[in-house]
Amino acid sequence: MTTTYTKRIGILTSGGDSPGMNAAIRASVRAALEKGAEVCAIYEGYQGMVEGGSRIRFLNWDSVGGILHRGGTIIGTARCKEFYTRAGRLKAARNLLELEIDGLIVIGGDGSLAGADIFSREWPELVTELAQQGEISKELAESHPHLKIVGLPASIDNDMYGSSMTIGTDTALHRITEAVDAISSTAASHQRTFVVEVMGRNCGYLALMAALATGADWVIIPERPPEMDNWQDHMCAILKAGRESGRRDSIIIVAEGARDANGNPIRSDDIRKILEERLGEDTRVTILGHVQRGGSPSAFDRNLSTILGYAAVEEILTSPPNAEPVLIGIRRNRVTKTSLRYCVEQTRAVASAISAGDYDKAMSLRGSSFKEAYHTLFTLMQAKPQPPSSNNKPLRLAVMNAGAAAAGMNTAVRAFTRLGIDKGHCILGIEHGFRGFIEGKIKELNWLTVRGWATTGGSELGTSRKIPKTKDFYALARHIESHDIHALLILGGWAGYEAAYQMYCQRDTFPAFNIPILCVPASIDNNLPGAELSIGADTALNNIVQAVDKIKQSAVASSRCFIVKVMGHYCGYLALMSGLATGAEQVYTHEQGITLANLQRDLSHLIAGFKRGKRVGLIICNENANPVYDSNFICSLFEEEGRHVFQVRQAILGHLQQGGDPSPFDRIQATRFAARALDFLIEEAQKASPAGAFMGIQGSQVQFFDFSDLPRMVDKNYQRPKQQWWMDLLPIATILSQPAPRAYQND
Ligand code: ADP
Repeated sequence: MTTTYTKRIGILTSGGDSPGMNAAIRASVRAALEKGAEVCAIYEGYQGMVEGGSRIRFLNWDSVGGILHRGGTIIGTARCKEFYTRAGRLKAARNLLELEIDGLIVIGGDGSLAGADIFSREWPELVTELAQQGEISKELAESHPHLKIVGLPASIDNDMYGSSMTIGTDTALHRITEAVDAISSTAASHQRTFVVEVMGRNCGYLALMAALATGADWVIIPERPPEMDNWQDHMCAILKAGRESGRRDSIIIVAEGARDANGNPIRSDDIRKILEERLGEDTRVTILGHVQRGGSPSAFDRNLSTILGYAAVEEILTSPPNAEPVLIGIRRNRVTKTSLRYCVEQTRAVASAISAGDYDKAMSLRGSSFKEAYHTLFTLMQAKPQPPSSNNKPLRLAVMNAGAAAAGMNTAVRAFTRLGIDKGHCILGIEHGFRGFIEGKIKELNWLTVRGWATTGGSELGTSRKIPKTKDFYALARHIESHDIHALLILGGWAGYEAAYQMYCQRDTFPAFNIPILCVPASIDNNLPGAELSIGADTALNNIVQAVDKIKQSAVASSRCFIVKVMGHYCGYLALMSGLATGAEQVYTHEQGITLANLQRDLSHLIAGFKRGKRVGLIICNENANPVYDSNFICSLFEEEGRHVFQVRQAILGHLQQGGDPSPFDRIQATRFAARALDFLIEEAQKASPAGAFMGIQGSQVQFFDFSDLPRMVDKNYQRPKQQWWMDLLPIATILSQPAPRAYQND
């Protein structure tokens, strides 16, 4: 049941700006209006709150239209000295009371949220004081005894406790990986070394994840300074070994707050000098600076902000009037709510631990995913071709891609190959999916075969959708035996899972299949069981969002509605998430289905919208949403019925969705999966009855499911999991993109 205590909500963005803030503003404003509350924007953060007057203005439905793709914040942000003082906060309280604002959404970093927490706790005293001074009436004071505050974490550093991701981080990682990819290509041409400095005074998240995503050769972060006194020698030895194994460039990523174990800063230029002096390397420094904050938000940031903004309003409108301030965050793809004060304290505890030199504490406060990423990165950076170990029997581990290509497949094959060789095993690459496997196209992958694969899209090994049948299994068994394959890793989509499942089921007939077999989810469709996000889906989503941004921009002057058809087979993930990220009026998925009544309703909304002055319409349609009412049909229907008001164009995005270099998230995920898959296969290879399994990820937890679970987890007819977490987001997409409720229309 919804209990609405608050009727007027203030919203502000404060501190450092971060991409995605606009999506949070849009979602909060529209969710509030839809639920019957009003929203005032407080321009320029706390400065606007202290100044009041024209700095606080009402927002309507349309004032937050067309802002999803814009970086920064449309309501401005600032740092405000006055708000640190009680006198400043007293002024701010008066300004809020004047407009009878009794709920506040603060979007910012730990500083902004600390200020919000103090303000909320002080509120009753401030109100009393204002009434005593005669600044406000007694009635006004009595009717606003509390100020409800909800904080949303926005910081490109990802340094906020209470949310596994903060608004802006993913976009900053996009900017960094784009820059490092570009730097790597020039570095390789000249065999140079580059030291790249990224943001993060007390948080190494950007440096660590960027290093993982770009295949960098060394990284230094504040939470884990190089341990040894002679870390310079160690770094140089690793870089030298890399050069000797054939690498043409070296990339070192340094967080701006990097320091040594004694707390002395390590600056990019210090590293340049060390490398020039000790290795004689031609070394350049690039400090990325504010580029990292800028630009259009990534698909992830738009959706994260939208989900959090929506949840913030729900929290304000449903919590009791004297509710504690909370931080709305995300963990394992689910919205979370934590005491704001506790989040601020824990966030600051990391900075304190770093200043006190307690790096173990700093690392443990960052959480398990951070530690795991650090461990994987250092294993990869220090990995080198090793002779087979004398203790353990070297294994022959085969890896292949299957199904359609997905960005990140190469990243995973590279990590699997190098980590496997480092452990003394032999890695075999199977070419062209199961088609190549049946034909025996199997070759050894060595250290240099996978050079440069960390950052490239497509499938270097080659892939196919072939699913083996009858006599094909004899061929597979023969090749497993003749190549003495001890374990098999399949990185792929539905076709790969189906083929692996068949092998698993035929183990009695073909004893050769009694090896560990593991499927890792890699498909842009994101339709694989056990995995909330498969490798490639994030890249595809960003491809769609970038294309749709351009399509929308092309039509601003022409009253045009676009019907955009996106991939996904029978899974609506790409359609829904791209619709949410681009502000589509309607998203059609197979899961929800399409009826003629829906189409008529949506058509009349579009006609009404265009009559009111709307310039662009956007409908996103999953490729198999409905066999009869397909995108051609919808186009013809809308064209015919809406011809006097707007034009209709169809955009079939096609294979651009599958292409391109993998996004940072896909690279990171692919590397993590490959490292875990390798450990799993090695362990299973020691067992008499090794597993046939598929790997999943629920939130940030990697899990392994036995193939015997597959039938109960999937809807075989429509080739998708029975449970799909993102379906919960459908109502949000519908609410935020509907036409403005009558009361809030401009006209
Ligand atoms: P961020 O929110 O990005 O961490 P800052 O730390 O600069 O950025 O904080 C932004 C603003 O929040 C400050 O300029 C100030 O107005 C307010 N603020 C920060 N800390 C406090 C505090 N302890 N008390 C009151 N206001 C604060």
